[in-house]
Amino acid sequence: MTSPQSLEAAAAAHLDEALGFTIPGRNARGRIVRLGPVLDHILSAHDYPAPIARILSEALVLAALLGSLLKGDEGQLTIQAQTESGIVDLLVCDYKAGELRGYVRFEKDRLGDLPSHRDLFALFGKGYLAITFDQPATDERYQGIVPLEGASLAEAAQNYFSQSEQLPSVVRLAVNDTGHVAGGILVQHLPEGEEGRERLHTRLDDPEWEHVRILSETIKGTELTDPRLSLEAALWRLFHEEDVRVVAAVPLAKGCRCNFDYIRGVIARFGAADRAAMVDEDGFISVDCEFCSRVFPISLRDIDGAAES
Ligand SMILES: [Zn+2]
Repeated sequence: MTSPQSLEAAAAAHLDEALGFTIPGRNARGRIVRLGPVLDHILSAHDYPAPIARILSEALVLAALLGSLLKGDEGQLTIQAQTESGIVDLLVCDYKAGELRGYVRFEKDRLGDLPSHRDLFALFGKGYLAITFDQPATDERYQGIVPLEGASLAEAAQNYFSQSEQLPSVVRLAVNDTGHVAGGILVQHLPEGEEGRERLHTRLDDPEWEHVRILSETIKGTELTDPRLSLEAALWRLFHEEDVRVVAAVPLAKGCRCNFDYIRGVIARFGAADRAAMVDEDGFISVDCEFCSRVFPISLRDIDGAAES
């Protein structure tokens, strides 16, 4: 659990935060994120070996980078890796209103096969990442499919935005040596004067973007994960010759929607015959939250009683 002391320490140490920024003179915008106690909180529900914890940490940073671009509190961003014959079988994380959660399913006995220099194929086999943006407020739902190819998750995401989305982008993700701090940056070029989805006129070789891209690529993993360096200061180091403006600061937390009432509601929507098939000899239906590694025993009598009354 995250104690009040560690929350205070996180605030003082520039952790668990996302900043949105723009560089209006260059038609660029971006997000920078750093996770600390939130990462520990999410990982503490599991006992992941280092390579699995690391890839989930990177995916959580990516979720925070993309999710904090959503407008309003109702929007949700979900990242789900689906794989064939990979050591990682499933990786899921999501972002909603500043809250992150995630988990990984993997084959423990194949971890020994991992090469020390591991690319995405070594972890996922043949796979892809489905990135889903849901914005109920405007009834928008959008899904992008990112092939899990290349050296890293950052590279796969960057190629996806730059090539499939025609949205020139820089993505960097980093996890420090202890595994307790992770950070990332996303910088994107916007077509001149447009903030919407029309990107037909974006040129990958636009000289203004080239300048921003080169500056963005100078960020070091240690800058992304150093809790003593504020995110503002990291941006300032990168873009100090530019008119860089922080437009939003989003505190990040670990969050999950699992609770007895919610899960009881889900079970109640099953037919009586389905419920009877799920119930154990003590009269309980056990539902797992894989994000939190928690089991919720729901009493069937409770549900049937509520249905009769
Ligand atoms: Zn949960």
